[in-house]
Amino acid sequence: MALDKDDSLLSNETKNAVVIGAGPAGLTAAYELAKNGIRSTVLEADQLVGGISRTVNYKGYRFDIGGHRFFSKVPLINEVWDDILDEKMLIRPRLSRIHYRDHFFDYPLQAGNALSGLGLMEAVMIGLSYARTKVFPSRQERNFEEWVANRFGYRLYNIFFKTYTEKVWGIPCTEISADWAAQRIKNLSLVEAVRNALLGGGGKTKDGKIITTLIDEFKYPRLGPGMMWECCETRLEGQGSRTLRGRRVERVRHTHGKVECVYARTDDGELEEFSGDQFFSTMPLRELIGALDPAPPDDVIKAANSLAYRDYLTVVLMVKRDKVFPDNWIYIHSPEVKMGRIQNYKNWSPEMVPDASRTSLGLEYFLWDVDDEWTWSNDRLIDLGLKETVALKLIEADEVEDGTVVRMKKAYPIYDQFYQGHLDVIRRYLDTITNLQTIGRNGQHRYNNQDHSMLTGIYAARNVVGANYDIWSVNVEKEYHEETVRDEKATGDRMIPRRLEPSDDAESLAPDAVIRAAFAKLDPVAMGSAVGLVFAVSLFLATVALIIKGGEVVGPHLSLLGHYLIGYKVTWSGAFLGLIESGISGFLLGYTGASLRNWTMSTYSNLLKRRADIDQSKDLLDKV
Ligand SMILES: Cc1cc2nc3c(=O)[nH]c(=O)nc-3n(C[C@H](O)[C@H](O)[C@H](O)COP(=O)(O)OP(=O)(O)OC[C@H]3O[C@@H](n4cnc5c(N)ncnc54)[C@H](O)[C@@H]3O)c2cc1C
Repeated sequence: MALDKDDSLLSNETKNAVVIGAGPAGLTAAYELAKNGIRSTVLEADQLVGGISRTVNYKGYRFDIGGHRFFSKVPLINEVWDDILDEKMLIRPRLSRIHYRDHFFDYPLQAGNALSGLGLMEAVMIGLSYARTKVFPSRQERNFEEWVANRFGYRLYNIFFKTYTEKVWGIPCTEISADWAAQRIKNLSLVEAVRNALLGGGGKTKDGKIITTLIDEFKYPRLGPGMMWECCETRLEGQGSRTLRGRRVERVRHTHGKVECVYARTDDGELEEFSGDQFFSTMPLRELIGALDPAPPDDVIKAANSLAYRDYLTVVLMVKRDKVFPDNWIYIHSPEVKMGRIQNYKNWSPEMVPDASRTSLGLEYFLWDVDDEWTWSNDRLIDLGLKETVALKLIEADEVEDGTVVRMKKAYPIYDQFYQGHLDVIRRYLDTITNLQTIGRNGQHRYNNQDHSMLTGIYAARNVVGANYDIWSVNVEKEYHEETVRDEKATGDRMIPRRLEPSDDAESLAPDAVIRAAFAKLDPVAMGSAVGLVFAVSLFLATVALIIKGGEVVGPHLSLLGHYLIGYKVTWSGAFLGLIESGISGFLLGYTGASLRNWTMSTYSNLLKRRADIDQSKDLLDKV
């Protein structure tokens, strides 16, 4: 069901739209509006476009916020990318390994490589720990630790999953609900689960669509993701829409259920007013609610202020060496260092460095803005990054000739146990403002990829020219359905950690729900009764029919059943005897058949579950 508010968006008189934020969502919305003949003004707080998908240029060294793979299962998004960018994207091979105790481990994990890197003693300990969890698994797979340990053993879990997950999310794995790891399998269709489990799948569904996380190559603009969004900005300019950088929207004035105008602060401190017919916001919901004038009711403000975010910073080191490691990025599992991942930008595109004899490394730190490190000076952070990278034995200290730091506040919307309720309160209120749509990552508080943000922008733009999409239900995993129920939690394709709740029980978190549902058990008693009834009635009616027909020898063929049914003959007494005996035989047959079928299906579904579990665990880190 689409929102009621969308009805009032069907204005053919829309002439001018105002878009808050020049990230993928905002720019794509403006791009789609332009295609429909509507000009827009995009207001961007920063001096760069692209939002979190920007490319920063420091003395000719280009780098992303993290690394941005361009990948989408939605054909429309791939078309938009192709259309916006002036040139073809590069197709890049993917290599990302795990660094732990001075060793590089293949990712996804390979048993032989993992065990040889860890050494004989550790391999034995891992084997014992694995055997122990197989004999004594955690029956209650409630938290992330139990879920992973049940599949890999505690020792392997500690080495390859615990540290990185806790670095990224800042939450102990024992407090993260197990459905975080299990949720992907719930999203797979049974057919895909079976295909992947039995045939390996090769990372593709039957119709050739690629499964997101198993990709071993991805698209990437030659000069980084920012190139896409700078091209988009230029394209918009040619179509009469403008993007104004350095305009931070501070106030959104509305009256009678409509936004009239927004006020943006320039870098010089001036306040500028922008009016329009339609408004699109990609600013964080918390800030949007705070900017509304008049202010919303207290419960809405409280809900918005309760939304939480994790922050992120990259320390970039310029290294005087042409090759440091061949990976696009490395997961850093050593607990001794705080960094969670290292990007090697020239392996994303050779043109990310100004000089092929140099390498730029992006050291990624996941933080809360109350953490000490968040307030450290750039010099102190560069020093930390340098010491940690040297400690990891990746570089020598004197190889680093320069460094810089980029901070990204609110990089990760947090899904705690209350966020959905807060979002509902906020959405209900925003629905009353009919010419404002909130789109994108922080605009919808959604842990997503670019494709999801873009899709919300496209659908929101289409809503103002007659479409009726529920923007909150946009889902890049499935096609959008008009009938999607509003409260259904549409997901992006990333995993979203949720804190464990007391109401979570192991059963509801079991990852094999889809398989179990498909192989639902037959009830042996019901099956026995049905078969027994059919047998009994059939034999009774057949016997009676032959008696009525009569003849010299009555029912010579049917009488042969007397070999199996004691005392059965084609007579009136035989008809009743046969009714009882064939009923009992039919019952036993049906009962046994159903039990056998249940046993076979249960063995088969257990096999599928194990295979699908293994398949799914392979790329767990990518989803973190
Ligand atoms: C470390 C990391 C790695 C990632 N890797 C990938 C990847 O490999 N592939 C992928 O597809 N996605 C990736 N993503 C996700 C991707 O970055 C986001 O999905 C995408 O950038 C969201 O786009 P958006 O427009 O919704 O929001 P944003 O990118 O957040 O853009 C919002 C824009 O609004 C501006 N803004 C905010 N407030 C105001 C205001 N008051 N006034 C004016 N302007 C304002 C901001 O400055 C920003 O430019 C990654 C994200 C992170 C954090």
